[in-house]
Amino acid sequence: MRAADACPGVLRPHRAEDGAMVRLRLPGGRVTAETLVRLVELATSYGNGIVQLTSRAGLQVRGLPDPLPSAFVAAVAATGLLPSTTHERVRNIVASPLTGLSGGLTDLRPLIAELDAGLIAEPSLSALPGRFLFVLDDGRGDVVDLTFDLGYQATGRGEGRVLVASPDSGLAVSATEAVPVLLDLARQFVTARTASGAWHVAELPAWIESLDLTSPPATHGSPSVPLGHVGDAASVLVPLARLDLKQARAIDRAVSSGPVVVTPWRGLVLPGASGQLEALANAGMVIDDESAWAGISACVGAPACARARADTAAIAEVLAAGGKPVRQIHISGCERRCGAPAHDHLDLVAPQASVSVSTAR
Ligand code: SF4
Repeated sequence: MRAADACPGVLRPHRAEDGAMVRLRLPGGRVTAETLVRLVELATSYGNGIVQLTSRAGLQVRGLPDPLPSAFVAAVAATGLLPSTTHERVRNIVASPLTGLSGGLTDLRPLIAELDAGLIAEPSLSALPGRFLFVLDDGRGDVVDLTFDLGYQATGRGEGRVLVASPDSGLAVSATEAVPVLLDLARQFVTARTASGAWHVAELPAWIESLDLTSPPATHGSPSVPLGHVGDAASVLVPLARLDLKQARAIDRAVSSGPVVVTPWRGLVLPGASGQLEALANAGMVIDDESAWAGISACVGAPACARARADTAAIAEVLAAGGKPVRQIHISGCERRCGAPAHDHLDLVAPQASVSVSTAR
């Protein structure tokens, strides 16, 4: 028998060493700058003052009182980030972050909204596991290498392929068929997982086989957004994906068109803010791929997480002081490797040796 689905939400917080933790889903990573500021204000009033960016392009708030005050839940709901009490943990939709802003074969923003609305409207889909992930790729191939359950990759403006647990095969569909087919497959998965309690589509190979997938493999691209100017947008990171109030307010001042986009690589795309890079850097954001912080990520680690055997943030600070590593490093406090990049990286798990930086004289 599987353990209960423990994926946290606002209505089902996770109990951590540093208090309650809540996770907020942002379909396609989209959130207005005003909402982002409001959430960091709430994190400052109730929690540790930090909003974390997640590897599913969502947000987390930690260090909250346990039990969670109803006033906090009401304040989060008032931001609009909790449109469904029954489906809050299944709105896991990662999309190409730059879709509709720069590049790609088509603008997937309408499909993101359609899929989210369709998920919420279907009562049976509240039974999807909280770990279930949809990806929507606008043809550039940036998100199809994430570990996902169901996906869509555009092959043109009006057509694409639905992907089932893998970028290697799928079903050719028109763009208008994409969301209905994804929702139908999700409903089928809810039924097919009943006996085993599978968390993911990949755990049901017989069901996948029955779908008679035929279309050619997906196109693969770079799983990243370069830092700096991207069209008229600014692309930035916050060190260790931890956003504070000063940074959120700088983002609010810088963004001039459309919502902020949180990327699955725990960065931020800020529409209309390409002229504000210096101000963003002054607020502590990383605007250059040559920065050390562009090459280092870490899970929350000790002391916030009970499983952690290392203070991952402290180790990351020491490594960052040494300059950009020759390859991406992810530091985890235990073997779960939360937030580890899907692409190649140096995997440091609970490093036990003391890490120091020596300066040659
Ligand atoms: S990788 Fe381990 S230590 Fe780090 S946040 Fe996840 S469970 Fe905690």
